[in-house]
Amino acid sequence: MNSGKILSGKKVAEEIRAEAARDVAELAGSGVRPQLDVVLVGDDPASKVYVGSKARACDRLGMASNTHRLPEDVAQARVLDLVHALNADPEVDGILVQLPLPGSLDTHRILDAVDPAKDVDGFHPTNVGLLQQGRPRLVPCTPLGIMELLRREGIGVEGRRAVVVGRSDIVGKPMAMLLLHAHATVTLCHSRTRDLASVTRQAEILIVAAGRRALIGPDHVAEGAVVIDVGMHRLTTEDEVESLFPGDEERRRRFADKGSVLTGDVDFVRVLPRAARITPVPGGVGPLTIAKLMANTVAAARWRRGV
Ligand code: NAP
Repeated sequence: MNSGKILSGKKVAEEIRAEAARDVAELAGSGVRPQLDVVLVGDDPASKVYVGSKARACDRLGMASNTHRLPEDVAQARVLDLVHALNADPEVDGILVQLPLPGSLDTHRILDAVDPAKDVDGFHPTNVGLLQQGRPRLVPCTPLGIMELLRREGIGVEGRRAVVVGRSDIVGKPMAMLLLHAHATVTLCHSRTRDLASVTRQAEILIVAAGRRALIGPDHVAEGAVVIDVGMHRLTTEDEVESLFPGDEERRRRFADKGSVLTGDVDFVRVLPRAARITPVPGGVGPLTIAKLMANTVAAARWRRGV
């Protein structure tokens, strides 16, 4: 495996966290301790894991965090009351509503209720609009982390053809907007895109956030492209692991240990020979997202408190 090609999100995430930790120490000098409050509704196991790692990340940086757990069948009014209370609490710098919310709740209404100044996920329409206008304030963490990875790895964006697969509000759309503002020529693909491979083969920078395991194979990728894989999927059988990672003893060992291994939207092993640079799963985009959440919370604390 050509490890020089592999973009380590983990390494860049460590750099971002180290900078956030320095900021936290500096803010402590002004008597400020940034605080992130997470709203977790229901018992979704993946959400619980994500919320746990966000709380641990805050802890490690010396930031305060609270998780507000609400039952699956909670009334919408109760969630809104909690969000309003967090908006009004001067100690709270960042509010994150863990998605997905149960189907009985109106996700837009709840996200719209978050104070835009505390919206560290960047999902509030005010922050979405500011990003659209090219004057970003709080920007969704995953695309922000990817831009940071490209910048720190010296991968130029200006004037290059970038293709984003996936048009979600969380990843695809803000990703396309950030690339556009960085002067890339951007194409945004989705499930109705005809002949996806012919479009993605145009990409010098290909960013995949489709939520489809191994959607992108070698035929989708131009020789020398930079490939960023946002997808996250759990392989739960040995056959799945062997078909995507043939002969990969390390991954087999991890599977034997944990009963599953992660993979992305890109068929990593088969795309690797064509790509100039490529992010792995795990260790690629995932760590960047949490690191940027920490950085966004510190930034929100600075702006709102004027320090
Ligand atoms: P999402 O809301 O489900 O959106 C998926 C997008 O992909 C949609 O726009 C969909 O098109 C498009 N799509 C689906 N199948 C496609 C296909 N066959 N060809 C082309 N486009 C297709 O997903 P998301 O929230 O953006 O997340 C995407 C993936 O990233 C998931 O695996 C998620 O777990 C992962 N993720 C990872 C991180 C991280 O930190 N690593 C963060 C966020 C998300 P339509 O709009 O037409 O339906």
